[in-house]
Amino acid sequence: MAHASQNRTVEILNAAAAGKYGVLAAIAYNIEQLTALVRAAEAKRSPIIIQLFPSTLKQLPTLAHAAAAAVRSATVPLSLHIDHAQDVDHIREIIATLPVDSVMVDMSHYDEQENLEKTKILAKECHAMGIAVEAESGRIEGGEDGIADTEGLEALFTSPEDVDNFIAAGIDILAPSIGNLHGDYGPSGPAPGQLHFDRLTAINKQINSRVLIALHGTNDFPPELMRQCIENGAIKLNVNKLLLEVWNEFLRKNAAEMPLVKLIDEGMKVLQAETERWMDICQSSGKA
Ligand SMILES: [Zn+2]
Repeated sequence: MAHASQNRTVEILNAAAAGKYGVLAAIAYNIEQLTALVRAAEAKRSPIIIQLFPSTLKQLPTLAHAAAAAVRSATVPLSLHIDHAQDVDHIREIIATLPVDSVMVDMSHYDEQENLEKTKILAKECHAMGIAVEAESGRIEGGEDGIADTEGLEALFTSPEDVDNFIAAGIDILAPSIGNLHGDYGPSGPAPGQLHFDRLTAINKQINSRVLIALHGTNDFPPELMRQCIENGAIKLNVNKLLLEVWNEFLRKNAAEMPLVKLIDEGMKVLQAETERWMDICQSSGKA
């Protein structure tokens, strides 16, 4: 495990686990979204984990440096995490060249044995650089931008045995597969029973505070469901469209008429407000 006192992501999540609140781990695709997320954290005195996809690192090579600068200059706890890094060579390049705090080493497109072997090797390499590691046990169904490798593969639910195997592989954060999926559930969120809370509870018990739990696949989540996940041990809450849809909608509606600079300013305000609302829901507001 990465040494907690030296790693921002682990520090943020340990504090959340102790305080029984959730922390948004929010995807940013550009500097405007990054800025809005950081402003929300400052305004709410809340921690936040900024997440970038590996595909975004290739599309916008300077964005990780901007995010790291935001992490360093913020007056609240922030960290920079790379979500769903699925390519071994790219992971090695990321940890050697970018100022990141944590990486999701996602080898879930391999079979379980190979997933574990690769995760173990990469966790060691990340820890040697002071970088914390998240891994996906089982396989979360669906695809999202830049994580095409698991698209079309069947979901595999996380078992208590998987939990111990992944902890033995040396990870810091576990992303279990409990019926959650990457992509859209539909406007009212997951169907009743779609998320296996009994499984999440059993996983949390099995983990027994040895690692932290990340929840993926939160599109369309209603607030009560998010709170229920937090109560059952999910601390790192990966959010993408859940926050960013307001930005997308605002741009779609106003791009034709509004001057570009105003469009960006107003769009950032809308995204900041939505992020603040979810910080209240996850109860991380005022915790920084
Ligand atoms: Zn995910």
